[in-house]
Amino acid sequence: MELQPQEIKQWLLQANQLFQENKDYLTSLDQAIGDGDHGINMARGFQEVKNKIEPAEYTNVSDVLKDTAMTLMSKVGGASGPLFGTAFLKLSTSLKGVDNADFQHFADGISAAAEGLKQRGKAEQGEKTMIDVWLPMAEFLQSQSEFSGEEIESKAKSAMEATKDMSAKKGRAAYLGDRSVGHLDPGSVSSYYLFSTLAEIIKKGV
Ligand code: ADP
Ligand code: MG
Repeated sequence: MELQPQEIKQWLLQANQLFQENKDYLTSLDQAIGDGDHGINMARGFQEVKNKIEPAEYTNVSDVLKDTAMTLMSKVGGASGPLFGTAFLKLSTSLKGVDNADFQHFADGISAAAEGLKQRGKAEQGEKTMIDVWLPMAEFLQSQSEFSGEEIESKAKSAMEATKDMSAKKGRAAYLGDRSVGHLDPGSVSSYYLFSTLAEIIKKGV
């Protein structure tokens, strides 16, 4: 199986739908340990992504991902805009020159995205940030040889849920320190939404 530009587009449009539907939930998560704008940031950013990519015609996966990255970087306020922007930009760069993404290309792209996030956020695994979803996902994909929607979904979900027990060391939640324990990290929930919609697209394509 390969992901074609049309499938990448579908992935991002479906993710947008999830961000619109869960805007209030994401905001409530950020109200608990941050400043309460995460749902608004993601819903606004992905609405702009939709506006940008929906009418465009793409012949390679890299260009869809690049338009997504640039839009998130320029339209999303807060820490998460530049962070998700960086992740999509690294994924795009990694897939440059590839029309359709086969499994290994895509897995390498997610690894590049996770590394980019670490550098940009100056964060490590276990500090209760979106990195706690991206890094385990990158490692998981590197251990596989073919797309599996079920496994991507369950891996992303368990990684997201694991942020609940972590104490925040980066971002606004770090001000709360140990009082952040018991709350999910909002950016990790958004990252889970991205991987669970990707899983849906993969399941349809298999
Ligand atoms: P802000 O924190 O500026 O209000 P958002 O609320 O949109 O921005 O995003 C918060 C999310 O960003 C957090 O839940 C976390 O996942 C992620 N985040 C914050 N700081 C960092 C960082 N230094 N490295 C990685 N991710 C981070
Ligand atoms: Mg916030």
